[in-house]
Amino acid sequence: MEHDIEALTGGAMASIWSWVRAKIPAGVEVFDAHAHIGTDVDGRTMTGDGMRERMEAAGVKKSIVFPLNDPNARDDFSGPNDVVWRAYEEYPSSFVPFFRLNPHLDYDREFSRCVERGFMGLKLHPVSQEFELDDPRVVRLFGMAAETDLPILIHTGFAMQRIVEPLLPTVEAHPGLRLILGHCAMVEVLSATRAFEGHPNVLFETSVVQAKDLYELCCSVDPSRICFGSDIPYGDLPSTLHSILAAAEAAGVPEEALPGILSENIRRWFP
Ligand SMILES: [Zn+2]
Repeated sequence: MEHDIEALTGGAMASIWSWVRAKIPAGVEVFDAHAHIGTDVDGRTMTGDGMRERMEAAGVKKSIVFPLNDPNARDDFSGPNDVVWRAYEEYPSSFVPFFRLNPHLDYDREFSRCVERGFMGLKLHPVSQEFELDDPRVVRLFGMAAETDLPILIHTGFAMQRIVEPLLPTVEAHPGLRLILGHCAMVEVLSATRAFEGHPNVLFETSVVQAKDLYELCCSVDPSRICFGSDIPYGDLPSTLHSILAAAEAAGVPEEALPGILSENIRRWFP
């Protein structure tokens, strides 16, 4: 574990990491809007302790955490959701707990259980759980979240085919619904920034997005709509911080906008 952090911030990476540190404005409490705790079908794992170590090493104060695509998901994700909740109970000031659902199944019970328990948001993954964003069961779930004022983070990254066209009717029907587009709708980033420009409750999250797409994001949307994410354990904090800060600089995003991107834009939802 220490070796991981050393490899990302020391040796050949030391000068890049010091550039990142110097770029983060003084006093900014970095907020990671996308991180996972638990186990994935692909073998990845992350514990609450492991997450905390990474956050401390990189100077990150708070992270939104939710399950991976867990092999032990008891269909309704209740087991993996409990793992996230226990990590939150251990570190309540570090984690913002989101739960995960499978829209193909009868999700009402797990939705109510998690909302009553105090989960602060929902994570949906259209590729892993194999659904479209305009599937009636998903549209119904968006409506339930809007009614409960529950933010949703949607995977809109690798392997996504349709994002803007199936999502826009929901965004227009529920202007108050707070949405985080995980990986910033990178496959359709320009049409997404255009379509959601007038919808301030849609944020673009920046984890593991290639440089060209991050640059286009920074050029095409107001910086108040961008929030930093790492996608731990797929991404890491030093590299994803470097990516967004380098893209913002290349795109000419003013320095005054960096506290928003790194922290305040998402912190407004989770003070
Ligand atoms: Zn993720």
